[in-house]
Amino acid sequence: MLDARIPPGPIEQNWDKCRFDMKLVNPANRRKYNIIVVGSGLAGAAAAATLGQQGYRVQCFSYHDSPRRAHSIAAQGGINAAKNYRNDGDSIFRLFYDTVKGGDFRSRESNVHRLAQISLNIIDQCVAQGVPFAREYGGLLDTRSFGGVQVQRTFYARGQTGQQLLLGAYQALEEQIAAGSVTMHIRSELLDVVVADGRARGIVTRDLVTGKITSHAADVVVLATGGYSNVFYLSTNAKACNCTAIWRAHRRGALFANPCFTQIHPTCIPVSSEHQSKLTLMSESLRNDGRVWVPKQKGETRAPNDIPENERDYFLERRYPSFGNLVPRDVASRNAKEVCDDGRGVGPSGQGVYLDFADAIHRLGLQTVREKYGNLFDIYERITGEDAYTVPMRIYPAPHYTMGGLWVDYHLMSNIPGLFVAGEANFSDHGANRLGASALMQGLADGYFVIPATVPDYLATTKLEPVDTSHAAFAATKDDVSQRIEALLAIKGTRSPDSFHKELGRLMWDECGMARSEAGLRKALARIPELREEFWHNLRIVGGGEELNQSLENANRVSDFLEFAELMCIDALNRTESCGGHFRVESQTPEGEAKRDDENFSYSAAWEWKGLDQAPVLHKEPLNFEYVHLAQRSYK
Ligand SMILES: Cc1cc2nc3c(=O)[nH]c(=O)nc-3n(C[C@H](O)[C@H](O)[C@H](O)COP(=O)(O)OP(=O)(O)OC[C@H]3O[C@@H](n4cnc5c(N)ncnc54)[C@H](O)[C@@H]3O)c2cc1C
Repeated sequence: MLDARIPPGPIEQNWDKCRFDMKLVNPANRRKYNIIVVGSGLAGAAAAATLGQQGYRVQCFSYHDSPRRAHSIAAQGGINAAKNYRNDGDSIFRLFYDTVKGGDFRSRESNVHRLAQISLNIIDQCVAQGVPFAREYGGLLDTRSFGGVQVQRTFYARGQTGQQLLLGAYQALEEQIAAGSVTMHIRSELLDVVVADGRARGIVTRDLVTGKITSHAADVVVLATGGYSNVFYLSTNAKACNCTAIWRAHRRGALFANPCFTQIHPTCIPVSSEHQSKLTLMSESLRNDGRVWVPKQKGETRAPNDIPENERDYFLERRYPSFGNLVPRDVASRNAKEVCDDGRGVGPSGQGVYLDFADAIHRLGLQTVREKYGNLFDIYERITGEDAYTVPMRIYPAPHYTMGGLWVDYHLMSNIPGLFVAGEANFSDHGANRLGASALMQGLADGYFVIPATVPDYLATTKLEPVDTSHAAFAATKDDVSQRIEALLAIKGTRSPDSFHKELGRLMWDECGMARSEAGLRKALARIPELREEFWHNLRIVGGGEELNQSLENANRVSDFLEFAELMCIDALNRTESCGGHFRVESQTPEGEAKRDDENFSYSAAWEWKGLDQAPVLHKEPLNFEYVHLAQRSYK
């Protein structure tokens, strides 16, 4: 039975009570503890900097050449906080409510409430660091709206919010590196987690420049290694994002929760070529002012500006008059797919809908629209060659974020004692669908506030035997890592790692993407092991293991995606209800909305690894909704 360690008592007091009940480590004793943080994106950098500041000895690892390159830097639109600066009805409870409802009632209430509470502290923390949030003329912090809510609670820094927040976290991290409390290991990729005597006690890494495999021991390991959207090959994530860290931890015993909960973002630049390796997001913030439409007529050939108003279908405004273009992402994506499947999609592939700013420019003026969204329009023009100030943007849904991840309790500890998981890497607070601008909030809540409270409690309450890299578990884990790399290099077949990844991604997009059916999932589950088999017999890696070798790095990551994808499909097949981003075609309302089955699926699915060709074991964490009552989501 999974114990989520949810504190008893009224939800508003859970976190305060938990913080008070947790044990502290005396400042003089903190330097005796060694903490490994893997990842230096928002969650990892915030955790490493804060634990370093507290006085622990922290080792931080990243495969990037600088913490500043973490994928968090790509975040565009903003970060939510229930500050209610606009006095438009916001509150901690409303943010909590919106997030539970937005996640289609598949998240843990207590965690979400804590997130809403901490959101206030995050903005104060970042402002104190000098993060240049947008301000109104009078100097007050500005906010805007994101999908699935009716207040304006999203703080932003033009279209570069992630970059500015990461610079804040990076400065805090650098300060600790200079002070000697944090040691940064760049271009070091975690390839395994060491579990000694039942506790996470270290990691094994590969130096991406020299190929050297090294073991590192610690008292606690924190994984903050991001999400797995690249299982689809094409996604809005950075090319290097992968699932290796969490997957290898899973293989060591960490439960993987809700792997099928993935988010397809509605506003991305449509795929334009077979040879594309990356998709580009157009921030959700654009839906504050842009209007989504397609022609009413199928097979329309006229240019968008030649199509008269009465021949356009503003389908989101029509179907969801209360939320209009700002419905949550899962709803907007599904509707876009539907109109395209109906033959009304636009652009060369027919896989696109318009996002039109003509009304906003008319109402607000070109200059205001340029000030709000200028860099996004520039990105769009650079990629498509089109000027979105004069012609509507074309957008289509694309894989973007993963709500699933390693299972963690209220303390963000996995079921392996001493292994904590933060940011997008854990199964997070977002349930079956994440609301826009909530990932930055969660990553920073985890990194600045939760991990720095719960890790010390673990240290203070656990008797840790002295363990160093001479422990047998380190030698065994290091051997496994070396053997896997040697096995990859020895295949010497004919297909590149990328060609396998592309084929897997296409299969996942077709069968486990925006719409999932029993037949499609069974097809994927038959094909994935075949593809994996071919990979291990016909892979070609160029170059050797003791040098900078991106082909090897890629192959290693693809080998994990080929295992992980199977679990994702198993989870999707098991969950015969639709909820949030998980849309089972067999389970929909007469209006085509996601139809949940609360009686049978009101739980988080936490899967246990049993071996490559063994069926994983399902553990269920029941979800109780005491404060937000279960209801069919409606944005009409
Ligand atoms: C284009 C785009 C725009 C977005 N915009 C927004 C937005 O406006 N608002 C919002 O709330 N969210 C947004 N998101 C989501 C948000 O950016 C991410 O969820 C969040 O930044 C993830 O942060 P993280 O710290 O968990 O992981 P990451 O930033 O992905 O960092 C992962 C870190 O782990 C390291 N790492 C990973 N694996 C290993 C390994 N095996 N060994 C060593 N190191 C490893 C990496 O080097 C990196 O340092 C956006 C996402 C995308 C793709």
